[in-house]
Amino acid sequence: MKCPICRHGETRPGAVTVPFERDGMTIVFREVPALVCENCGEAFHEEAVTVALLKQAEQAAAAGVEIDVRRFAVAA
Ligand SMILES: [Zn+2]
Repeated sequence: MKCPICRHGETRPGAVTVPFERDGMTIVFREVPALVCENCGEAFHEEAVTVALLKQAEQAAAAGVEIDVRRFAVAA
């Protein structure tokens, strides 16, 4: 699709690193599937991916995680 941020680039399937901070907890998810703009580098996630990210962050928060770097998995 055409990038809605810069309006010049085309987005391509790729994987990005997503840092997530909440209530003093920091989690970095690696290899998160995304559509990445070839021009400005902006990454867009499908809704299912965003939902899974939030769910995994909540689970980590519930487990008392303060800082973590993990590989993203859609099926947790
Ligand atoms: Zn762009």
